[in-house]
Amino acid sequence: MILFKRAADLTGYLEKQRAAGQSIGFVPTMGALHQGHISLITISKKTTSLTVCSIFVNPTQFNDPKDFQKYPITIEKDIVLLEKAGTDVLFLPQVGEVYPTGTNDLENYDLGSLETVLEGAFRPGHFQGVCQVMQRLLHIVRPQHLFMGSKDYQQCMVVQRLLHLMGLPTTLHPCPIVRESDGLAMSSRNVRLDPEQRFFAAAIYATLQTIRQDWPGPVAPLVEKATKMLEEAHFRVDYVAIADRNTLQPVRDGAPKAVALIAAFMGEVRLIDNLEL
Ligand code: AMP
Repeated sequence: MILFKRAADLTGYLEKQRAAGQSIGFVPTMGALHQGHISLITISKKTTSLTVCSIFVNPTQFNDPKDFQKYPITIEKDIVLLEKAGTDVLFLPQVGEVYPTGTNDLENYDLGSLETVLEGAFRPGHFQGVCQVMQRLLHIVRPQHLFMGSKDYQQCMVVQRLLHLMGLPTTLHPCPIVRESDGLAMSSRNVRLDPEQRFFAAAIYATLQTIRQDWPGPVAPLVEKATKMLEEAHFRVDYVAIADRNTLQPVRDGAPKAVALIAAFMGEVRLIDNLEL
């Protein structure tokens, strides 16, 4: 694995690889890697001939400063995992490398209603930050294929829109959610849960499964039952939503192509998950 810290060096290297006929796959991450991230590397390696992973904790996408300060950093372990997975290139930039003119007064993206529903509503500015960093990373890497986890369902939709806004030919591949044995979606933030919280955290997936079992049923009682299940497991619920897979707008009872999405706090740690119905 080749490690690049400078954007210009990486861009120059990838230009040569592209000219030599390599197809480039890109897996952007914020580090503290787990098997969910590694599954994206594995899928990229099957689809492309050169896999680039980035580790960059993007300051502009944290609407909660405490979440940013406490974001886990495990870079040595990450490098071992990436090497083992057969990653070709790791991009590990400092903030000034990605944002040479600083992080104030950055550009704004027209994300339509994606910015006003669910994560957009509960994390103001978050998706602007995601677009700001993704626009820069995509400009540096220029991948043919981009691999992202559908755990971040709405983020995949936002990045698809960004690709359209940027007019890039990159193909986005939303990849399956990798779970722990009790169903909890793997997440870098899970390490911040104490053993008791970790035990109760599995209720998110159990709740999603209950929604799926009861679907198609009337939406309001389903959401009410799901919220109760989460609260009984000591979650503080931001939302339980049953939404249209293409628009994330609320669905009517029994509508086709729905997805259930949950965001909830276990202690200080905010977890999200979803399940297509
Ligand atoms: P993050 O480091 O949290 O920004 O995540 C980097 C990428 O890994 C994003 O595309 C996430 O959606 C994806 N990802 C995170 N957790 C999982 C998981 N449990 N299964 C699959 N992909 C995941």
